[in-house]
Amino acid sequence: MADVQAPLDDSLSLVAEEVKACERCPLSLTRTNAVAGEGPPDARVVLIGEGPGRNEDLQGRPFVGAAGKQLEGLLGDAGLRRGDVYITNVVKCRPPENRRPTGAESNACGPYLGRQLMLVRPTLVVLLGDSALNRFLPDQSLTNAHGRMFKRGDYAFFPTYHPAAMIYNRALEGVIREDFRALGGVLSGLEPKD
Ligand code: URA
Ligand code: SF4
Repeated sequence: MADVQAPLDDSLSLVAEEVKACERCPLSLTRTNAVAGEGPPDARVVLIGEGPGRNEDLQGRPFVGAAGKQLEGLLGDAGLRRGDVYITNVVKCRPPENRRPTGAESNACGPYLGRQLMLVRPTLVVLLGDSALNRFLPDQSLTNAHGRMFKRGDYAFFPTYHPAAMIYNRALEGVIREDFRALGGVLSGLEPKD
């Protein structure tokens, strides 16, 4: 499969335009709106979820449903506000019935995510749940890796559970909140962005 080539004058809005029109995988057939992502182009932190849910698909924005509410609360535990961070997903189109994206779908969408990371150049990339973890730290499991920083290549990654996990597993709430508090600590120990 041919890779998506990043143009020389790449920008987040160009990525978003391409995502809106993308037909590189079958998720394009069932989406209402593709959801490229949103946030300040110079954000220190990028958060990566799994894929748009129903509300996100309808509105064309990431994390606007129940999981988004949870996420905003958690960001507060890290000393961050939603407007401080760039938020996107492994796949930009909603998987039917909110199923996990397949490896082929994640691979097809991967170049968009790669370009977004190269453009924002965050200090820290927060991986929300297994789909994001598997993409960047495939040798790790969430049980072992959550709540810690991993430096790989050009990026520092911080895996934690997906905020939606708090909704169906209340026992995880304390663990996730602890991770976000740790995230605040990790961030304050990292150099500011140049
Ligand atoms: N869950 C995700 O993984 N991403 C969203 O944008 C919303 C819910
Ligand atoms: Fe394109 Fe990604 Fe949507 Fe698939 S999920 S159609 S690769 S934007």
